[in-house]
Amino acid sequence: MVNIVLIGKQGSGKGTQAKLLAKQFDLEHINTGALFRKHIEEQTHLGIIADEYIKKGELVPDKFVFQLIEESIEPDIKGLVFDGFPRTLEQAAYLVERYRIDKVIYLSLPIEVAKKRITSRVECKNCGKTYNLLTSPPLMEGVCDVCGSVVGSRADDKPEAIEKRISEFLEKTKILIDFFSKRDIAITVDASASVEEVFSELCEIVKELF
Ligand code: AMP
Repeated sequence: MVNIVLIGKQGSGKGTQAKLLAKQFDLEHINTGALFRKHIEEQTHLGIIADEYIKKGELVPDKFVFQLIEESIEPDIKGLVFDGFPRTLEQAAYLVERYRIDKVIYLSLPIEVAKKRITSRVECKNCGKTYNLLTSPPLMEGVCDVCGSVVGSRADDKPEAIEKRISEFLEKTKILIDFFSKRDIAITVDASASVEEVFSELCEIVKELF
């Protein structure tokens, strides 16, 4: 079983790449942001708490993240691709205590490019498919190509929340590269190339792990 982690600031394409990798290598995709959004939509207790942080672009406190992880991962089913977790040193320590992590891939992208990508990003409110209004818009404006539901921007893709999320990444998440480099499992990939190019580089890395 292979467990991998994708780290990258918002807009680095980690969600898209994690989805593609999960499909290619039959891994379970653990996307904590999407899991929180589902809780918010269903107005669960955890969703109501998380919403307060997410809409401001702040990280949800670790104890709620651990609760989310514990209820979302089915033990020993498949290998995992973590997307959006860990985001703090405490989360990284929690992760390595519980799972053998084979590779941590850092999708590196300049801040200005990331911001541009986020401001043109929309996603399907139902199935979560993401689109870029500049490079890959839905065929019909506002309608998902896959499921026909409404496509729009995420509640936290607003200028102040974007700035806050980027600074949260720089202050709390970027240091995880050092944490995993010390364990000799980190690798950096340039995320400014096309989705296809980045994916083929990631596939080369991941297939070596099997
Ligand atoms: P994402 O979809 O990965 O951009 O996540 C959206 C938001 O969910 C983030 O800005 C955080 O507020 C929250 N979130 C997702 N994953 C985590 C995590 N591992 N730790 C703390 N907050 C998280």
